Amino acid sequence: MKKSKSLIVSPKSSYLLIRCKKCATERIIFSHSTTAIKCDGCGEELVVPSGGMASINADIVKRLD
Ligand SMILES: [Zn+2]
Repeated sequence: MKKSKSLIVSPKSSYLLIRCKKCATERIIFSHSTTAIKCDGCGEELVVPSGGMASINADIVKRLD
C-alpha cells in the first residue's frame, strides 16, 4: 500500500517585482507563472515555469501582496 504523501504547499502565490541581473530593467511577474517571461530590455529569460513556483533568474526587489 502506498503511503500518501502530503503535498508540500508552496508559499502563497503573489506578484513580485523583479529586476533583471543583466540590464536592471524592472518588471512585475506572477510568482507561479506558467509561462516563460523574458526581459523587455535585453531578452534574457527571467522566469522559467517549473510546475509550482516559477524559477526566477533575476533579483527579487519586493513582493506585492
Ligand atoms: Zn534585461
